Amino acid sequence: MKILFISSEVVPFAKTGGLADVASALPKAIKAIGHDIRILMPRYKCVSSNAMSARLAAKRAGRQELRVGDLPVYFFEDEHFSKRDELYVKNGQDYPDNCEAFLAFCQSVEAFLKRIDWQPDIIHCNDWQTALVCLFIKELRKSDPSFKRCATVFSIHNLAYQGNFPREKFASTGLPQTLEFYDQLSFIKAGLLYADVVNTVSEAYAQEIKTKEYGCGLEKELKKRSQDLYGILNGLDYDVWNPAKDPLIKRRYSAGTISLRGENKLELQRVNNLPQDKNIPLLGIVSRLADQKGFDLLEEVMEEILALGCQFVLLGTGEPKYHKFFETLKKKYPRQAGINLGFNSALAQQIYAGSDIFLMPSQYEPCGLGQLISFKYGAIPIVRKTGGLADTVHDFEPKTGQGDGFVFKEYGSSALLGAIEKALETYKNKVMWQQMQQRVMQYNYSWDASAKKYIGLYMKALAKIGIEAL
Ligand code: ADP
Repeated sequence: MKILFISSEVVPFAKTGGLADVASALPKAIKAIGHDIRILMPRYKCVSSNAMSARLAAKRAGRQELRVGDLPVYFFEDEHFSKRDELYVKNGQDYPDNCEAFLAFCQSVEAFLKRIDWQPDIIHCNDWQTALVCLFIKELRKSDPSFKRCATVFSIHNLAYQGNFPREKFASTGLPQTLEFYDQLSFIKAGLLYADVVNTVSEAYAQEIKTKEYGCGLEKELKKRSQDLYGILNGLDYDVWNPAKDPLIKRRYSAGTISLRGENKLELQRVNNLPQDKNIPLLGIVSRLADQKGFDLLEEVMEEILALGCQFVLLGTGEPKYHKFFETLKKKYPRQAGINLGFNSALAQQIYAGSDIFLMPSQYEPCGLGQLISFKYGAIPIVRKTGGLADTVHDFEPKTGQGDGFVFKEYGSSALLGAIEKALETYKNKVMWQQMQQRVMQYNYSWDASAKKYIGLYMKALAKIGIEAL
C-alpha cells in the first residue's frame, strides 16, 4: 500500500505532545511491515535546529542517526510557518494566522502529490490541522481520476482541539457551511464528516466521545459515524523510550538490573536541589500544563500531598495560571518541589527514570503516552480511570499483589489524594514495590500490534470507496 501520513508535528522535527511521538513511530512501524509510507508536515522555524540537535545527540551517544526510519519526510514551506517560533500558540495566545496557515497546508497536498508523481492509496490525516484534506480529497475523487482510488483516514488524537475560527472566515476561505459549529468555522468537522473512516487512540476514548461528557459538542456527529469509528491504542517507540539504551539518563538499567535505577533518582534530586535520599518517595510529572491534565485537582491538594512527606518534580509548560501556581509552590517548598517550566526532552527522560511514581490525574485522556513510558522506566503511574488510562492501568490490589498502578474514578481532589496515599503506603513495602516495577517494565506496548490494526483500518477505508484492497 502507498500511504501519505500528514501531521502537524513529528519527532524529532517539531513536538508539543504525544501526536509528535505517534507521527514518527507509527509510520516507522508501518514501513517495517513493508508498505510505502511517507510523511508530510509543515516546516516551522524550529525544524532545522531540532533535526540538527537530534543528529548530534545521536552521534554523541554513538547511536545511529535519529531519523524516521528510511521513510521520506516532506516539508511544506510557507511563510505562515517559517516565521513561527512555536507551533500553534505563543505566550498563551493562538497565532492569528492559524486558519490561513493550516488551510494552506491542507490545500498544498493536491499539487504536492502531482509534483512528486506519487499517488497514495491512503491519506492518513491527524487532528484538526490536517482535517480539511479529507474534504478536499472527497471533492477531488469526483473530478480528478488520479484521486479515484484514494481513501482517507482521520485520527482523532484530542477532540478538544478543534481548530475553530470566527464565522467571517467562511467568506475569506470559501469553505462550506457544513463546517459550521456553534457559529464558528470548525476544521475538525471536515475530518469527522468527510474521512472514509475515523479512529481515535484508545477503545475507551472511542466510546467516550460519543457521549455529552466527552464529546466536546461533536458527539452527535460522532454518533452518526459510529459504523466508521474505531479505537486503536497508541504504542511506544522503544528505540527512543528504553532505559537500557537511553543516552540521556545518568545510569542505564533494565528490569534485571533495577537496583541501578536509584542512581537516576539521586541525580534527579540533585538537579532539582532536593535532599538526595533514595528512601523519600518521589512523585514525577511530565505534561502539558493544561486543564485536561487534571492540574486543577492537583492545585487543590498540592500542599496536602507534600505534607505526606514526599518529593515532587514537575516538567511542563502551558497555561500561564499553572506556571504561576508552580512558581509560587517552588518558593514555598524549595526542599520538596522541583519545578521545571519549559519543554525539555532530556529532563523528561530523567524524570521517567528517576521518579518512583508518575502522576496523570487527567480529566480526559485519548490514549496517554506518559503512563506507557513510565511503565517502561519503572515509575508506577497514578491515573484517573478515563480513556486510554482506563485501558492500560489497573489498580493495585494489596491482597493479591496484582495491578500495575493506582487508579481513581471520580474527578475530584480527594479521590486523587486517596490514590496518592494508597501509593505511598504501598511504597513502604519495598519488595512488593520492586516486583510491581519489574512487572510493568516488561510490558510490551510497542507499535507492532497497533500498526497491523492500522493496516486493517486502511483496508476498511478502501472498501468504503469500493476498492477491495490487495
Ligand atoms: P499529550 O499528547 O496530551 O500531551 P501524551 O501523554 O499522549 O499527552 O504525550 C505527551 C508526550 O509529550 C510524552 O512523550 C511526554 O514525555 C512529552 N512531554 C510533555 N510535556 C513535555 C515537556 N514539558 N518537556 C518534554 N516532553 C514533554
